[in-house]
Amino acid sequence: MEKFSVKKVFEIAYAHRLLDYNGKCENLHGHNGIVEIIVETVKLDEMSMVMDFVELKNKAGRWLNDNLDHTVILSKKDPLAKILKEQNQKMFLTDENPTAEIIAKTIKDEMNKMGIKAKEIRFWETQSSMAKIEEE
Ligand SMILES: [Zn+2]
Repeated sequence: MEKFSVKKVFEIAYAHRLLDYNGKCENLHGHNGIVEIIVETVKLDEMSMVMDFVELKNKAGRWLNDNLDHTVILSKKDPLAKILKEQNQKMFLTDENPTAEIIAKTIKDEMNKMGIKAKEIRFWETQSSMAKIEEE
């Protein structure tokens, strides 16, 4: 069976740290992450598109910009969250440690809530380290 897909790529700058982790990622540090959002379909819409690139850019780009870009991404259990909140720092709290895998899953869940049927999210934490979540 043939399938179509489109992909849009975004960049976000963020800081994070991992709790209960023994290694350099236990320290607050930053990345320029790359987000790849892949939308797939068997049947194109009335415009012969999987999804309009403009719509994908506007919706996904806005959410990423508002929520993750230039943000400190922390586990909600992280005691730093209280301090950053007092300092009015932009934060995004995750239920689990903010690993590349959890950030990818968070983006996928948010895209789905927005009606973007993301088949796959690839989240590049560095140029050589990527986490992926995909629908089976
Ligand atoms: Zn990191």
